[in-house]
Amino acid sequence: MAAYPEIGLFIDGKWVSPPGAARFTTRNPTNGSIIGSFVSATPKDVDAAVTAAFSAFPHWKATPPPARGEILLRVAQTLKDRKEQIGRIVTQEMGKVIAEGRGDVQESIDFVEYMAGEGRRLFGETVPSELRSKFCLTVRQPKGVVACITPWNFPTAIPNWKIAAALICGNTVVFKPASNTAMCAIEVVKAYEAGGVPAGVLNCVTGAGSTVGNALIDDRRVRAVSFTGGVETGRSVYERGARDLKAVHLELGGKNPMIVMDDANLPLALEGLLFGAFGTAGQRCTATSRLILHEKVYDEFLGMLDQRVARLRLGDPLDPRTDVGPVASADQERKILEYISVGRTEAKLRVGGGKLTGGIYDQGFFIAPTIFETAHGTRISKEEIFGPVLSVIKVPSYEEAVRVANDVDYGLSSAIYTRDVNVAFRAVQDLECGITYINAPTIGAEVQLPFGGVKNTGTGGREAGSVAVEEFTEIKTVFIDFSNRLQKAQIDVADSG
Ligand code: NAD
Repeated sequence: MAAYPEIGLFIDGKWVSPPGAARFTTRNPTNGSIIGSFVSATPKDVDAAVTAAFSAFPHWKATPPPARGEILLRVAQTLKDRKEQIGRIVTQEMGKVIAEGRGDVQESIDFVEYMAGEGRRLFGETVPSELRSKFCLTVRQPKGVVACITPWNFPTAIPNWKIAAALICGNTVVFKPASNTAMCAIEVVKAYEAGGVPAGVLNCVTGAGSTVGNALIDDRRVRAVSFTGGVETGRSVYERGARDLKAVHLELGGKNPMIVMDDANLPLALEGLLFGAFGTAGQRCTATSRLILHEKVYDEFLGMLDQRVARLRLGDPLDPRTDVGPVASADQERKILEYISVGRTEAKLRVGGGKLTGGIYDQGFFIAPTIFETAHGTRISKEEIFGPVLSVIKVPSYEEAVRVANDVDYGLSSAIYTRDVNVAFRAVQDLECGITYINAPTIGAEVQLPFGGVKNTGTGGREAGSVAVEEFTEIKTVFIDFSNRLQKAQIDVADSG
């Protein structure tokens, strides 16, 4: 017997372990211990999961949305009851500090509750007709079987953002989580199981993106794909989905700027920067990865920053005193260290700059919070690193700050610190991205507001907020003619009597 749980696939309401199935394990990035073992699903398993979702769809579609909402409320309650346990699993499997591990679950709870309420809205429109005795409206209908493919950095929240929104709209789901946070995903699925989601309505297949993801996207019964992850994977998902004209929703990377103007409240900006750049070890799609700093406060602000970064506590993420935990995996560590090497050749290293060693650090993937001073245009100033690495760029004016902020391929989040209300409002207008914070860091999404970005950050739709249902519904336009005669739109136009 293994000393860790061996988990199956969740198909048609049952946990199944296909005989002889290949397996993979997840490991704690702090110390390498094994968290659990999971099935490497095959295309045959994916077919079984899609078959279950496809069969369950008519009944779920016919279930009144408020009744679907009741189930989601029970899911939320399960997540509340298990918040501490699941938060610890998030920290152990992904490496974010325990306060953020709990926060990941809290965001899940908030969103599932919010979506439960959507079961009593799912608004359509009523629109006047140009003809007499005719009534026009729109209703929302589910798309069908939806594939939800998720990354590891918010291992419970992002799956819930997709699954709860898809389900409340009446879709059935096949969920494919990131492999290195599979246990977190399983906890999410168990909450839906405990909440009473009917068999087949939610299915979960673990395994390699190239095998499971491709099989899912290629299945003609899957009508929509909701994907969050990196740009290159997103591009391939988009291309594959396009072959069958599927609706593909992409939430991808970011290179998020924080502008600090010469009139900013510098201590406030400093607090925001530390949280934005080094929270979750920089592994948030909205992490502050560029500080665009006005030349008049450049030296003063960086001096303050040096002192505070030196005091950040790196270590065991389960210890509540820890500020920054390990990065999530060996792959992450390798990629971030490569970028640090690139940075050393093209920019000036100011703080940090490598892997930490000795004691607990030798067992895990610990990278020192790192700050480079760089010109705009270097690789580290334009490419997503997804780690605790900040590029600082000096600018002489607001106009140059905005030009630099916008001159990247991404457009997710942004922030500006200024006391000038006119400059703040200009920034809202000028920054090319999906989210702008004024006097707050680039991170801090709230579930009742839309989330997403422009340019290479995605395909332009938004998750969360009241618009979350757009991704998972088709609009049906309905005309009801009670005139008892044939009326012709655009032709019977002058009928004013
Ligand atoms: P990733 O692209 O490597 O993987 C994401 C998911 O796609 C995983 O489940 C993976 O197994 C799967 N996958 C891999 N290859 C696939 C394929 N060929 N077909 C289908 N699925 C495939 O991303 P990651 O490393 O897990 O996450 C980090 C990235 O996610 C970063 O770029 C980050 O900015 C982005 N992200 C974006 C948002 C957002 O909302 N915009 C939120 C969180 C993370």
